[in-house]
Amino acid sequence: MLLDEKTAVITGAASGIGKATAKVFAEHGAQVVLADIDEGGEETLETIISDGGEASFIKTDVSDPVEVQNAIITAGDKYGGLDVLFNNAGILGPYELIHEYDEAGLDNLVDVHFKGVFYGLKFGIQAMQADGGGSIISTSSIAARRGLLGRAAYGGVKAGIDAMSRSAAMEVAEDDIRVNTILPGVIETPMLDISSEEKPSQRFEVSEPLPGTGHPNDIANAALFLASDLANRITGVNLPVDGGYLARP
Ligand code: NAD
Repeated sequence: MLLDEKTAVITGAASGIGKATAKVFAEHGAQVVLADIDEGGEETLETIISDGGEASFIKTDVSDPVEVQNAIITAGDKYGGLDVLFNNAGILGPYELIHEYDEAGLDNLVDVHFKGVFYGLKFGIQAMQADGGGSIISTSSIAARRGLLGRAAYGGVKAGIDAMSRSAAMEVAEDDIRVNTILPGVIETPMLDISSEEKPSQRFEVSEPLPGTGHPNDIANAALFLASDLANRITGVNLPVDGGYLARP
């Protein structure tokens, strides 16, 4: 039980990586606040409750600062504080080359990813400063580090999340708040299904050295480690969980 009696807020908890992480955190004793724009968060909630865990669902649009702050405050009011925040909600955006990229698509990516993580850091840090510390993890991507066709805008906002998190880590280290990101490789989630419908030939554009492709639980387990006291000397890190993809020259 690595998160016994800890309170965690997880964004994007209705699907894929966030859903898997919510289940793993609850199995390890955390009280989990599931924050998602999609009512599918109710399904994650039912699974956790029927497995004997403790969770709540709060419908949340991470691009709205008031809603992000509300999820964090509700977690504190209901469970007595905030120990872990996983900024994970995300969209892939259109598969378009940058010279053809639609500006509305760019705005969506910036709003959900870059501003969403910014609001999470801002209000999460305020809560953790009041509670005596904590761990914040955000989901970045291998696209932050490697050129991928049609993913310039997505990679750009993910690189921004990595940079923002490293500086935030420096700002709050003395408050005993750790700030890290995870860079998933190819993870089989509904997000990739959408991508494959748009451009089937691009689906496996990324080939990872380790056999097969990643499962949401691979990211959930990395998030569990970073959330827990096992990682109590780890901050300012951008951790790839990518089957070795970024180790290639
Ligand atoms: P997913 O589509 O299965 O889940 C994303 C979740 O985010 C959904 O439940 C969705 O409703 C939620 N969401 C979207 N916009 C939101 C908003 N404005 N407010 C609140 N919730 C919102 O996708 P996933 O693969 O689990 O993605 C999770 C994270 O992992 C994303 O940040 C994504 O960019 C990142 N990522 C995924 C992969 C991959 O291969 N699947 C690789 C690298 C990074």
